[in-house]
Amino acid sequence: MTAVGMGIPAVRSATTSVDGRPDVPELVDSFGRVARDLRVSITEKCSLRCTYCMPEEGLPAIPAEQLLTAAEIVRLVDIAVHRLGVHEVRFTGGEPLMRADLESIIQGCTTRVPGIPLAMTTNAVGLEHRARALADAGLSRVNVSLDSVDRAHFAQLTRRDRLPAVMAGIRAAVRHGLAPVKVNAVLMPETLDGAADLLDWCIDEGVALRFIEEMPLDADHAWKRGDMVSAQQVLDVLGDRFELSAIGRADPSAPAEQWLVNGGPATVGVIGSVTRSFCSDCDRTRLTAEGTVRSCLFSDRETDLRGALRGGADDDELARLWRGAMWNKWAGHGIDAAGFTPPKRSMGAIGG
Ligand code: SAM
Ligand code: SF4
Repeated sequence: MTAVGMGIPAVRSATTSVDGRPDVPELVDSFGRVARDLRVSITEKCSLRCTYCMPEEGLPAIPAEQLLTAAEIVRLVDIAVHRLGVHEVRFTGGEPLMRADLESIIQGCTTRVPGIPLAMTTNAVGLEHRARALADAGLSRVNVSLDSVDRAHFAQLTRRDRLPAVMAGIRAAVRHGLAPVKVNAVLMPETLDGAADLLDWCIDEGVALRFIEEMPLDADHAWKRGDMVSAQQVLDVLGDRFELSAIGRADPSAPAEQWLVNGGPATVGVIGSVTRSFCSDCDRTRLTAEGTVRSCLFSDRETDLRGALRGGADDDELARLWRGAMWNKWAGHGIDAAGFTPPKRSMGAIGG
């Protein structure tokens, strides 16, 4: 397979500065990509224990003093938007709803970066009771993770019997206008047969569904390429019940390939994170709950902003550190490369 076929960027930008980085405010990297989409993890805690993400006992707790405070998160989001050209902010975790101060984080960002979409990726447990307050605080939209509408399968996969709470959370998000509400599903071999039921449910509820290939980011390091449910397998299973017509991607940096279902208007997305990698168009930058910048899910190189921030660094210095962290972003995840080793942090500890 060619480098381009693997999603490995081929374009290098012109360089002007000493270390090769052009003197521009944006978060450019050495392959010519520009990060505009910020993912902020705000906790490692979670109400579920999805087998492809968390260990059964949960992640080791981050000591309270190592977690970014609401005010620190708001300040870093402000820097990302006003100095680094970030266009969209998404809160994730762990489970963002585990933080009692989530509403004030959202409210603070709404005040400091008005007009910037504020999104959240959530498992929706408890969202039923907070959707209104979050919408009032300025949350724009949610992506909810739901892998099966079969209660037994859901409980097996998440190690918690919380399907009714998740469904209630999705309905509350729709009711309170956290739109478009999107559902993300990661399928495992045991839930593949339920893919069509999940799509039927999402169409009935008026929410958009996207399937995402499982990546080697589970805390238990049990991922095996051969066991992974591929984008093609999902399309084959859906094709048995629905007529699918390809409509491509919304834009080059959108990871999901979209399909019209039974002639529309409903659509379904498939994200081939492993088999149809989109690294060459990646526009993400990540902040962990402890305040480190991570340029790629798969790279363990992190840049500590919390230490600098608490040491008295001003906004210019924090922006400079963030730019440096992104300049060194890897070309791609390299899952198919010989000698690939998964990152030390699992998905829940990075912020998916
Ligand atoms: N708890 C929230 C949730 O589940 O939506 C936010 C954090 S979770 C880590 C974010 C996303 O990462 C979820 O959509 C989840 O399905 C996805 N995810 C977790 N582990 C994954 C893996 N090994 N491969 C692919 N996606 C994964
Ligand atoms: Fe929790 Fe989300 Fe990971 Fe599931 S995918 S264990 S809900 S952080």
